[in-house]
Amino acid sequence: MSEWDTAALAAADKRYVWHPFTPMGEWCASEHEPIVLVRGEGALLWDSNGREYIDGNASIWTNIHGHNHPHINAAIRRQLERVAHTSFLGFTNPPAIELARAVVNLFPAGTLSRVFYSDDGSTGIEVALRIVAQFWSINGDSRPDFVAFKSGYHGDTAGAASLGAAAMFQKNGSRWSFPVRQVGSVAQLEALDSEDQAKIAAVVIEPLVQGAAGIRLWPSGTLSGLRRWCDRSGCLLIADEVLTGFGRTGRMFACEQEAVIPDIMVLGKGLTGGYLPLSITLISDKIFRPFSSDETDPEILFYGHSYAGNALGCAAALASLELFEIEQTLAALSDKIGHLSAELSRLKEHPAVAEIRQCGLMAGIELRADRSERIGAEACLAARAHGLLTRPIGNTVVLMPPLCVAASQINRAVAAVRNAIDEVCCAARR
Ligand code: PMP
Repeated sequence: MSEWDTAALAAADKRYVWHPFTPMGEWCASEHEPIVLVRGEGALLWDSNGREYIDGNASIWTNIHGHNHPHINAAIRRQLERVAHTSFLGFTNPPAIELARAVVNLFPAGTLSRVFYSDDGSTGIEVALRIVAQFWSINGDSRPDFVAFKSGYHGDTAGAASLGAAAMFQKNGSRWSFPVRQVGSVAQLEALDSEDQAKIAAVVIEPLVQGAAGIRLWPSGTLSGLRRWCDRSGCLLIADEVLTGFGRTGRMFACEQEAVIPDIMVLGKGLTGGYLPLSITLISDKIFRPFSSDETDPEILFYGHSYAGNALGCAAALASLELFEIEQTLAALSDKIGHLSAELSRLKEHPAVAEIRQCGLMAGIELRADRSERIGAEACLAARAHGLLTRPIGNTVVLMPPLCVAASQINRAVAAVRNAIDEVCCAARR
């Protein structure tokens, strides 16, 4: 007997709540039974009926060391006993100071050296754009254009949304967007004439892999080629590591894989281990310098949110970074990545699978859409009955467990995807 009244919770949810990126008519329909998640442990989650699932998308790509981790729990509790939140406007606090130092120390000295706190990936990107615009205006340069890559995704606030997910956000008119030049490749940037190049303030990229586009990998060398192009043309490089940061691609940061240091890096999602909303916009000396002069009329960045530098979030993030050391998270990753790839290779031959794309501990299993346009959603729904929770992107099933996932759980997750595909795509089991 569960301690939760699932029916009452579901009814109240349908009555009072509006869920993100969700067709609410379908959600609220009487036949829809929402899964009410009540508990987690490591890579597992339990619903209010006591059913166990593998957290197959790391709770929307955030979770790193697992749910309910004693080390992160203890750090949050310790901070909670002192104070949960204080203003970062005009004041500071120890966890925010320590976290800034710890994150800066992850990069070579004198490169990315200054931390600006926001609440989530979108606002971390948003402030990156504001900083860049103000930086060029202080310099007296007219560089009005931002460049982003087609099919990229950088969040939902107006600025971030202008950079990516164009089709989705422009559905109801584009009055939220500001001018962004979309390109498909670095070669297209190289083809721009010098006048156009000189107008570019910054290029924003999801390094190594476009996540929300369906786990689409960049050809190797794209990021380093882009760095070289930005250096030649004099514009800034913003690396959106909201998804790829903190081990997801196999290294601490995706940029390391191509030995690239961007001018700005945005971190979110996994920063707190997937516990609390917090993001960091990490800035190079060069960009920070004009904001730090002691002139009588100083340059001020007029940007910030009420929960900036939240002490609980920073304490969780510090504990998460400690866990990378304590549990040697990165050292254990290459075996897990190899194991996932071996498991997925057997799924590749499935007649309903069009393509499988993998980058580190994330994979996109693209299904053939000939039978149904909603095949991805149908497969993810069917996977629940096999103990796997995840969400599709179009007809691609995303598999992105927490980094703490065990080999046996990877087996279970891939088996659940296979069973789900069998059910929705082919009546008979293979
Ligand atoms: N950038 C990237 C690469 C993302 O994948 C996301 C979210 N999926 C964001 C930014 C936005 O982050 P958030 O949802 O925390 O605002």
